[in-house]
Amino acid sequence: MGKSRWITNGVWGSLTWGFKYRRPLISTHFQRMTSCIDFHTHSIASDGQLSPAQLVRRASEKGVRFLALTDHDTTHGVEEAAITAKQVGVHLIPGIELSVTWNDQNFHMVGLGIDPLHPVLASGIRDQQELRMSRAREIGQRLNKKRIGGAFEGAALLAGDGMITRTHFARYLVDQNRAATIQKAFDQFLKRGKPGYVPTQWTPIETGIKWITAAGGIAVLAHPHRYKISATRLKRLLTDFRNAGGQAIEVVCGNSSNDDVSKFSRHALEFGLLGSVGSDFHSPENPWIELGRLRPFPDEVSPVWGELGIVSNPLSPTH
Ligand SMILES: [Zn+2]
Ligand SMILES: [Zn+2]
Repeated sequence: MGKSRWITNGVWGSLTWGFKYRRPLISTHFQRMTSCIDFHTHSIASDGQLSPAQLVRRASEKGVRFLALTDHDTTHGVEEAAITAKQVGVHLIPGIELSVTWNDQNFHMVGLGIDPLHPVLASGIRDQQELRMSRAREIGQRLNKKRIGGAFEGAALLAGDGMITRTHFARYLVDQNRAATIQKAFDQFLKRGKPGYVPTQWTPIETGIKWITAAGGIAVLAHPHRYKISATRLKRLLTDFRNAGGQAIEVVCGNSSNDDVSKFSRHALEFGLLGSVGSDFHSPENPWIELGRLRPFPDEVSPVWGELGIVSNPLSPTH
């Protein structure tokens, strides 16, 4: 039984990854809205609402057998998730979601199969966390000018030990009855052009890819259907992403339409990228996004799990 290539010591060294088998998981597992693979999820280590252990247990209950935890700019939750995953028989892929900037526009990039403690990645994460903290302070100041006091402290309290994100500000605004829902809090206060918006230059996309690949991982462009970007600019982005060492794109996301899946499958093929799948699950309170609730993975796209060394026994009755 082989150990994963990116896991070398400590709790990681004791993990094994299922049966050795020559072929990656077969696509027939995706011929329904429930997928046994979910490679994009969040816990309280960033802006999710479940602990890493709770997240893994819920994933297991929902039929997910291969799960990546991809918190924003932190790998803090991965160890706890890995321990629980071992207990419940879920294969945990250590991951992260980095905020990156390309030509003055911000994007999200998932790193899959990373060594969560790798020094290059760890130092990059520290830079991102400093940026996050100064952005959060400035959001607080800007909201204060709009007579919304205590927003930084409130958001920090909600974030606890985890990364402070705009979602925490949104939750604070809802708690303070300044917005009816999280989405409205973004729309009224936190989006570009709104009073609490702070323009942020994250790490360049090329640098983010370097951190992920240095840590043994695969860089995946996250939820591509969510960006406001022209077709021409998207093609330039994908070209630069691939040339910098990016390897995959999420072709199936939690809220992808069939058209989204077709469109990004075509892009994956055109740019020689692998396809990934991920719900971007944050909370059981959002009924629209559930762990493993994903459209079928397109047959024509090469799946990222083939590169992750995930091997499984397709004869297993749980498949
Ligand atoms: Zn994202
Ligand atoms: Zn996400």
